[in-house]
Amino acid sequence: MLERKIPETRWAWVEIDRGALRRNFRAFRALTQPRERICCVIKADAYGHGAVECARVLASAGADMFAVATVDEGVVLRDAGVTLPILVLSEPPVSAIGTLLAHDIIPSVYTVEFALAYGECAVQAGTVGRYHLAIETGMNRIGVRCTEAVEFRESIDFHRGLCCDGVYTHFATADDPDGWDYKLQLRRFDEAVAAMRDAGLECGIVHCDNTPATIFDPASHHDMVRVGIGLYGLDPCPQAAARIELEPVMSVRARVTRTIMPAMGEGVGYGFTYRVPRTAVEICTLPLGYADGLSRTLSNRMEVLYRGERIRQVGNICMDQCMVAIHQTPLHQTPWAEHGDLMTIIGSDGDDRITMDEMAELRGTINYEVACGFGMRLEKIYL
Ligand SMILES: *Cc1c(COP(=O)(O)O)cnc(C)c1O
Repeated sequence: MLERKIPETRWAWVEIDRGALRRNFRAFRALTQPRERICCVIKADAYGHGAVECARVLASAGADMFAVATVDEGVVLRDAGVTLPILVLSEPPVSAIGTLLAHDIIPSVYTVEFALAYGECAVQAGTVGRYHLAIETGMNRIGVRCTEAVEFRESIDFHRGLCCDGVYTHFATADDPDGWDYKLQLRRFDEAVAAMRDAGLECGIVHCDNTPATIFDPASHHDMVRVGIGLYGLDPCPQAAARIELEPVMSVRARVTRTIMPAMGEGVGYGFTYRVPRTAVEICTLPLGYADGLSRTLSNRMEVLYRGERIRQVGNICMDQCMVAIHQTPLHQTPWAEHGDLMTIIGSDGDDRITMDEMAELRGTINYEVACGFGMRLEKIYL
């Protein structure tokens, strides 16, 4: 803990364990057949973990493709030298087509207007526009209705500027693979693929599994799986932990920037939502707040780790800072903290660990959102 790498300009940061990311990728590799490809989902800056650095680790570990949510996320990867195929998981506006072609980024397609405009621009650029057809099988978010896939393909595939590189769908309830809803989506997808093949249409790479489907239903892997949350060592749902061993990749840490021992009865932070209940309470300031992903809804409800012990966060969490309290009692003498002492907001310290799931539960959300939040502003240190 002595020679810890920390940012020069701020005593709050995110640590990314590249070894853990690599091992999580290998755990998914072990779960898939050699002929099945792995598309690593690194949208939203790799769920807050830093897309460029994660892409490097995952490419060297053997990733076959990357998926992002926006065209700009794809451009960032290309500018950083990523050479693997990059798929955008929705259909961008027509105005994005020039950027897609210039950076060799593959869009999802589900409107005739976009597809034909894309094909035209590709011909003009002297190339062929590769696309993945998104199929609507029940989530009611994006895609061509499964019953209309053949008709849709026939209305665009005459275009010599277009090439179907893949066909996919996305599950709404893959964390319940025995459930009727999941099975219905999978059946509709398989039927749409079969109908296209019967009509003589090439489907390219056929894929539908997110992390939970990849883990729970190996029979549904098809040609490729799209793994996101699991790569970062986070379980998509509680039952997943029994099926695959994953290591958390992100930790969030801070150093104490200031300490004070207020008198009994004094308030702490905006609105004085906490008052010092007695003497012998030390208030320590940490330089991260809700603009760093530490949701204000956690105020007075969360804990951090200090020397392997849990201490309470107190007062309203501010935009850029928050306070924690050390209480000494005759029976329990947690040492007073000093300026510069390390505190752990997410991650392990000693024998204890605060997980993304613990914080998500307190916030009333899912680990996905907690991780994305910490990626917003905190500097990332890659271990
Ligand atoms: C985000 C996303 C994924 C990855 O989901 P995880 O649950 O993180 O594995 C896969 N496919 C699509 C279409 C997505 O939007």
